Amino acid sequence: VIPEDVARQIRLVGLDVDGVMTDGGVYMGMVGAAPAELKRFDIIDNIGVLLLRSAGITVVVVSGRQSAATDLRVQELEVDEVVQDDRAMKLAAFEEMLQRRELAWHQAAFLGDDLPDVPLLRRVGLPACVANARPEARQLARHVTEAAGGHGAVREFAEELLKARHEWERALEGYYADRGERPI
Ligand SMILES: [Mg+2]
Repeated sequence: VIPEDVARQIRLVGLDVDGVMTDGGVYMGMVGAAPAELKRFDIIDNIGVLLLRSAGITVVVVSGRQSAATDLRVQELEVDEVVQDDRAMKLAAFEEMLQRRELAWHQAAFLGDDLPDVPLLRRVGLPACVANARPEARQLARHVTEAAGGHGAVREFAEELLKARHEWERALEGYYADRGERPI
């Protein structure tokens, strides 16, 4: 369970891509004469991102790897920003993004799974990992999702964060109201 005081400080959620928004698998091959790279994302994560943003929380995707599949996915998710660094140097890029948004480390959460995430997990106010995270990342996490990356981990983390802030009911009400429906 995420402590309420920690949850309420969070203004921005950072998400790693491979192993968090996906199961880490990458399909590589040729499509016609062109090399192609495909990944599997979980559509259940979409509403997690939507509800976080509806609650006024900025959502940023952080990838250490350039990929057309990732580009397509973040377009669909409508996240606030994509921080991409080909050398997997996530720290400097993330820090620059926080400064530009006038946010401090304690106001950020990050959901990661592997060594490139360690510098961010060490610094954010709410470090979190997926169930399949490597031990070096996991030992830094204040929250570990039951779901594995690519299997609803982003959705689960969004729900847990909003519940810890006592904003889950309101998020659901808003979701239904936007669609002209009564809440459950
Ligand atoms: Mg990863």
